Amino acid sequence: MRVSERRLLASIHDVAPCFESEVDRLADLIEARLGPVRYAMLVVPDHWGRAPLLQAPAFQARLRAWAERGVEMFVHGWFHRDTAEHQGAASFKARHMTAGEGEFLGLSHVDALRRMQDGKALVEDVIGMPAAGFIAPAWLYGPGAMQALAECGFPLAEDHFRVWRPGHEDTPLAKGPVVTWASRSTMRTASSLAFAALARSALQPLPTVRLAVHPGDVSKPSIIASVDATLRAFSRRHVPGRYSDLLK
Ligand SMILES: [Zn+2]
Repeated sequence: MRVSERRLLASIHDVAPCFESEVDRLADLIEARLGPVRYAMLVVPDHWGRAPLLQAPAFQARLRAWAERGVEMFVHGWFHRDTAEHQGAASFKARHMTAGEGEFLGLSHVDALRRMQDGKALVEDVIGMPAAGFIAPAWLYGPGAMQALAECGFPLAEDHFRVWRPGHEDTPLAKGPVVTWASRSTMRTASSLAFAALARSALQPLPTVRLAVHPGDVSKPSIIASVDATLRAFSRRHVPGRYSDLLK
């Protein structure tokens, strides 16, 4: 496969007014390696109910400017935090895999649909153009969320292992794990650093490589160094691209 056919999709998660300085740092880090605006931002409309985008006009203007420069803007949940009660397997998944950030895992179809529609309307109003897609917090979708997603008109969605067109999840547009980092605990950080180091060679054959960074990553120099090394390693054989290229 030619280099020009291989794609690197980088994204900044949890873009919200409360993380403005972290987002700036991550954007600088990515642009230093990939060039200007070859990445996506995942926007949270009201992070934990404490950072309403609706009431942050200065940050709205920044989002619009990024979008106009070419940054792809995804809707990333509404609150990000999981407020639902879970039963059985979903409860185990919610507690152990997400540290309570799997907002769309336990939502009913009605609630998921409302939050997706509200998020789409808000983000599109702020950026003045269509959203690139929807990505659930912690990449976790319950049955209600999957049903709602097919009805909302988002062009793209992704989870940890694939990218798909809502309503066509059986024919993914890209496959392979997202390379991402965990800053929450020393042990999780160590395993994410080890995975990234492995991925830098093991995932090279993939036609589409995805790399996702979070605001918490800037708190650990070891993570920043690993993100930088990973961007550098993939950008040698993969062209920094856009999620929307997958639809062409
Ligand atoms: Zn997130």
